[in-house]
Amino acid sequence: MKLYLASNNPHKAAELSALARRDRLEVEIISARAAGGMPPVAEDTGTFDGNARKKAQALQAVLAGAGTPPVEATKGGWWVLADDSGLCVDALDGAPGVESANYAGPGAADGENLARLVAAMRNVPEGKRGAQFVCVLLLLGADGGERRFEGRCAGQLLTEPDGAAGFGYDPLFVPEGETRSMAAMSAAEKNLVSHRARAWAKLSAWLKAQAAG
Ligand code: IMP
Repeated sequence: MKLYLASNNPHKAAELSALARRDRLEVEIISARAAGGMPPVAEDTGTFDGNARKKAQALQAVLAGAGTPPVEATKGGWWVLADDSGLCVDALDGAPGVESANYAGPGAADGENLARLVAAMRNVPEGKRGAQFVCVLLLLGADGGERRFEGRCAGQLLTEPDGAAGFGYDPLFVPEGETRSMAAMSAAEKNLVSHRARAWAKLSAWLKAQAAG
């Protein structure tokens, strides 16, 4: 089974590949770059599902042009896998949400988005700093069929970033039941609790059920 990852984000690729290895799944995750390149996608649908679908369809069009082998020619078949994710903050009515990647402006760097969130939360007191990460993983098949899997991770926002691992808003986010930010956790620890890991667990169970027939 091949999964073509419709993302240019090396952090997402690393996390998903580690999850597949941990599950001992017989899948090969192939980067968009190796598959012909991820075209630019306007993430303008307003939903995680819609944005994930657009990314998956964009890479599928590239694969079609590149003459990707038909399903029956590939052991276990293949899917395009897209990840759309973001951080929904209670005190900001769910922002940045689907706009997480561009919170500080189109094409903003992670550090700029993080700085904007620190500023937006400056006067929000302890006890009102709840947030949740959301991840939608979407599989798009060669025949246009799709499956979606969602994972969430609830937690609290710090007042200042802490930790150097991970990416995006990890340095500000402490998952429920944890005392450290996601950026102070190891990659393996983050993969036990994260929104992406929870969405992956559902996807992985589905793939295993498919393989078992
Ligand atoms: P998109 O899915 O490409 O729209 O971007 C998701 C954005 O949400 C990233 O650029 C990060 O800012 C944020 N994000 C998603 N997942 C995570 C995560 O696991 N840790 C930290 N930030 C994340």
